Amino acid sequence: MIYDNHNRPITYLRLAVTDRCNLRCFYCMPEEGIKYLPKHQVLTYEEMERVVRVLARLGVQKVRITGGEPFVRAGLMDFLHRLAAIDGLNDISLTTNGVLTAPHITDLAALGVRSVNLSLDTLDRERFRQITRRDELPAVLKTLDGLLSAGIQTKINAVVMDGQNTQDLVPLSDLTRTLPVDVRFIEEMPFNGEGSHYPVLNWTHQRIIDEIRAHFPDLQKLPDPPFSTSANYQIPGHQGTIGVIAAFSRTFCGTCNRIRLTAQGTLKTCLYDNGVLDIRALLRRGASDEELTAAFLQAFAHRPLNGFEAEQQRSVQSGAPVSESMATIGG
Ligand code: SAM
Repeated sequence: MIYDNHNRPITYLRLAVTDRCNLRCFYCMPEEGIKYLPKHQVLTYEEMERVVRVLARLGVQKVRITGGEPFVRAGLMDFLHRLAAIDGLNDISLTTNGVLTAPHITDLAALGVRSVNLSLDTLDRERFRQITRRDELPAVLKTLDGLLSAGIQTKINAVVMDGQNTQDLVPLSDLTRTLPVDVRFIEEMPFNGEGSHYPVLNWTHQRIIDEIRAHFPDLQKLPDPPFSTSANYQIPGHQGTIGVIAAFSRTFCGTCNRIRLTAQGTLKTCLYDNGVLDIRALLRRGASDEELTAAFLQAFAHRPLNGFEAEQQRSVQSGAPVSESMATIGG
């Protein structure tokens, strides 16, 4: 097991297999004018597999595939099969918007994919269309149904947006009444391809939970699993759970065990950093596994204490605040 300079184990990789997406969620990317990476700048599956092997030898046990939308990249299922054969990895999970996912669910279950995070910000078709700029709610609900029928642990991730979907807090929470899903509400972050954000975040994790409690006064706090980013709750008698992720308030950095690899092969040791290592350059100039390992260890030895420190270092280094689309990072 590898520990960082703040004594946090590094065991979890979030791997963005593409920066492309088939939705245009307004809080993630602009409607038009997106500059996707040219194909040769995106890591090949072979390159990604090699990086995961090296990281697995260093103690990474869990990989979450993300994007962009992972299912828009051709060959994803073959890649997952190759990952499943890597020694030391014991958890392969996925984050998806659910639009193209349903036909792959049986294969995902057969592969042993343990959990899928499904992004779903509203149950209202018109609001879904406004938020994502696509009319795909029925396809997403079909995926939700398919995942639950296949017995795959499913977390619904909903970004809470001031003036957009706060009326969905209660209906989404109420899904837990009859479905064994974990519905998690995420504070909105400025990763929207434009960098704009509210002067003050109106819907903080505290306000989100207060609003849910106002409708479900029996809401009970659950113990949070180790390394959890969400504070978890349950309404007595409900099958599923409710979580709140303080992604902008950054309350969970002290136990952060995760690193990220973007589609172009940039290592991030914090969501808010500017990228700390160009893995693609190392791979393409023929670095050995030993050199890759040494570069990872060096990066892990210099992790920022928290997302505030990372953001501050980033503005000193580049003069630029957080502004890129989350589709380039993977969430
Ligand atoms: N396409 C996949 C999906 O929709 O789950 C994976 C990539 S997406 C970038 C991963 C997660 O990031 C989604 O749950 C999405 O809602 C979240 N996300 C994107 N932009 C965000 C923002 N500005 N603030 C908070 N979460 C954001």
